[in-house]
Amino acid sequence: MNDAGHQIVSEAVTEAEWFDAIVLGAGISGLVSASLLVRQGCRRVLIVDDYDHIGGNHIDWTSGGYTFDIGSLIFQDDSPLLDHFPELLPLYVPIDPQWARLNPQGMITTYPISVRDDIFGTGLVEIVRIFASVLYARLFQRDMRNARDFARYWIGAYLLHRSGLQSYMKRFYGIATDGIDIDLARKRMLWISEHASLRNLLSRVLKPTQQGRRNRQMARPREGFRFLYRAAAERLEKAGAEFHLAAEMRTIHKVQDQFHLQLKERIVASGRIISTIPIHRAEQLCGIESGQKLDTITLIGLYFSFAGDRGFRQSIIYNFSHEGAWKRLTMYSDFYGQADGREYFTAEVIGNHIGGSIPRAERDFRDHVHANGLFRGDLRLEGSCILENAYPIYSQGAAQRAAEAIGRLRAFGLESLGRQGGFNYQPTARASTVEAEAALRETQAS
Ligand SMILES: Cc1cc2nc3c(=O)[nH]c(=O)nc-3n(C[C@H](O)[C@H](O)[C@H](O)COP(=O)(O)OP(=O)(O)OC[C@H]3O[C@@H](n4cnc5c(N)ncnc54)[C@H](O)[C@@H]3O)c2cc1C
Repeated sequence: MNDAGHQIVSEAVTEAEWFDAIVLGAGISGLVSASLLVRQGCRRVLIVDDYDHIGGNHIDWTSGGYTFDIGSLIFQDDSPLLDHFPELLPLYVPIDPQWARLNPQGMITTYPISVRDDIFGTGLVEIVRIFASVLYARLFQRDMRNARDFARYWIGAYLLHRSGLQSYMKRFYGIATDGIDIDLARKRMLWISEHASLRNLLSRVLKPTQQGRRNRQMARPREGFRFLYRAAAERLEKAGAEFHLAAEMRTIHKVQDQFHLQLKERIVASGRIISTIPIHRAEQLCGIESGQKLDTITLIGLYFSFAGDRGFRQSIIYNFSHEGAWKRLTMYSDFYGQADGREYFTAEVIGNHIGGSIPRAERDFRDHVHANGLFRGDLRLEGSCILENAYPIYSQGAAQRAAEAIGRLRAFGLESLGRQGGFNYQPTARASTVEAEAALRETQAS
């Protein structure tokens, strides 16, 4: 480092404000990390985010009487997140959502697969083809190198295509199924092997599962996520945590055993930084960029209002048909009530398949639902948003590259975790909570 560089660092040493720990990112992983640090005895914790709100990628958008989320965000009353922030529970709206899927034959049917509509209702010839294909896969396609091989082994190539599962997987993961990492397939698609294994099938028939207490499903309050997570922030603030939002993080310097984080208007220091922001962003801050950006899904949220016959009664529909770039739609008016006599919903479109263009996404959605007889009536686009880094693309080798990048951050001194910081597809806030708890427990033990 040159003389000028030394000067900057020594100024930083004198000006820096000390914290017991600094958490980058105020999403679920950041909030849970801060809660754990406080429980572990940290008196001053700073939570920093370039976003101007708490909650990370839990983002809603309200216009007039309509209120939308970027994705379909549903929570449960037995989530471990509530052990950290019990004040959230009374703020949620209890709901009773039903899920379904649009299959390639244009039917709205059971999600993720319907034994009646996708197998036994297809006619004798199709049933024979389905079972012959499963038998062939179990005997001759046992070698599993990617997600397609995994799914094909369990349900056979014919049903994989016919049910639309293969098209959905491609849409969801952003790449063809034979390019998806086998480890991810084993982890995330466990339900396929569970449902399709003969042993499990038999044990379900012989020993029907006992119905225990079912958890209650909940949506965020109508007032939005800022309102919801304000309650969590207040608990943390009372325990000594501080939030710095819209922070404009610039650099992280190592000064002996300390880290100095340069923000737009101040310098903060700590012996410990936990990062829950995208890995490449943390690498930039530390000046250890490898030039290898991990691929992620860009999600487009199309916010529609509607009057007419929507063509289904369930609140959440997954697109398993072979066409259409949209992945899922969620009818928010089922949860919060109609506005001006109109229903409203978000359609999630995978931006990677549609050149990141909102007009193309809208046209594609309209054409596809029209072709399938859905939303007959007045469909109006009220707004839209683009969310980058929505979730990881697990192409072959991506998990290895992510582990190496996390290792480089760790060698620098940063603990990187969460959906962004761990490059980890966390489907629920529950998973984010459990994984943050495990990561911080591990570092405390070591
Ligand atoms: C579309 C969608 C639908 C979901 N549905 C559900 C659901 O129904 N129920 C449920 O429980 N969970 C759901 N989840 C999962 C849940 O949202 C995650 O478990 C949780 O948000 C992960 O939190 P996190 O703090 O690890 O990461 P995030 O909230 O993703 O991000 C953490 C931080 O990283 C930084 N960051 C993120 N993106 C960027 C960017 N593009 N540029 C710069 N900085 C960035 C920000 O500082 C942010 O605060 C859904 C997620 C998505 C994306």
